[in-house]
Amino acid sequence: QAKEKGRNQVQLFDAEMNTRAISLVKIENELRYALEQNQMELHYQPQFSLQDGRLAGVEALVRWNKPGVGLVYPGDFIPLAEKSGIIVPLGNWILETACRQLHAWQWAGFYNIRMAVNLSAPQFRQFSLAGNIADILRELALNPDLLELEITESMLMEDMDIAITTMTELNRLGMHLAIDDFGTGYSSLAYLKNFPVRRLKIDKSFVKDLASKSGDAVIVSSIINLAHNMGIAVIAEGIEYESQHQRLRQLGCDEGQGYYLARPMPATEMEKLLQQESSRLLTGKEQRQ
Ligand code: C2E
Ligand code: MG
Ligand code: MG
Ligand code: MG
Repeated sequence: QAKEKGRNQVQLFDAEMNTRAISLVKIENELRYALEQNQMELHYQPQFSLQDGRLAGVEALVRWNKPGVGLVYPGDFIPLAEKSGIIVPLGNWILETACRQLHAWQWAGFYNIRMAVNLSAPQFRQFSLAGNIADILRELALNPDLLELEITESMLMEDMDIAITTMTELNRLGMHLAIDDFGTGYSSLAYLKNFPVRRLKIDKSFVKDLASKSGDAVIVSSIINLAHNMGIAVIAEGIEYESQHQRLRQLGCDEGQGYYLARPMPATEMEKLLQQESSRLLTGKEQRQ
């Protein structure tokens, strides 16, 4: 009886694996089709200087505009795209679209806006990554200084050798790296001295209780000091309240991003904000504080 039970369990397990494999193939096909049908779009979330309120850059965030469903957020398909391998063509599309948008904004006269793009682990592991990006930049005659690539701590630690090669190559080509969700991954800080990192993005979990939990303020303040002592800039993500905004300014954080300042928005809406920003600067109107 035990044997039979065991066999049933094996069968059950196999069936489950099979279902999972089938659904992964199904999702991969669905995502590939979505990409071909132009159902993917990028939204842009502004990043502001916390010192003078100036609009410093934007982060590109992918959304899937699924017919009959509406906007699907990356948390619901990026992990599957990573598992299925479709992340590589999707990631290339994201990079190219973000760079084309940056190029268009430059042609419209917004010269100093920075574009941040999130990279996935499988994308980062690709030997062709740096070359691909360099091709896009060259084709558009874009200044690589304005492109920032966001990677997470775990991506650096998982494949050290590849990471070093890729980072060095990206750096040689003039691109910059930001560490996303900083403080939530590996606790090793050694990579900060080994890798060319331009910016740390303090994870929103530390920003959340910044004004109420003193422990979080100590962590945030230490991250800022550590980064500044190493010549690295700091941006805080997930700013939802004025109190958090104030506290981060007091602590000397360079930039901020979050719903309190601006939500991610489609390109057309972002253009309006860029217009407002440039007329604000031209007329020397009071700075956003
Ligand atoms: P992330 O890179 O850390 O992006 C920040 C996320 O926080 C975004 O969610 C953004 O909409 C959200 N956010 C912004 N301000 C606030 C705030 O004040 N409060 C809260 N609670 N959240 C805020 P989103 O767009 O759903 O993206 C989630 C994650 O999906 C991203 O985290 C990133 O890891 C991944 N992702 C997004 N776009 C891409 C992409 O183009 N490529 C890759 N590989 N991953 C992406
Ligand atoms: Mg990010
Ligand atoms: Mg983040
Ligand atoms: Mg993230």
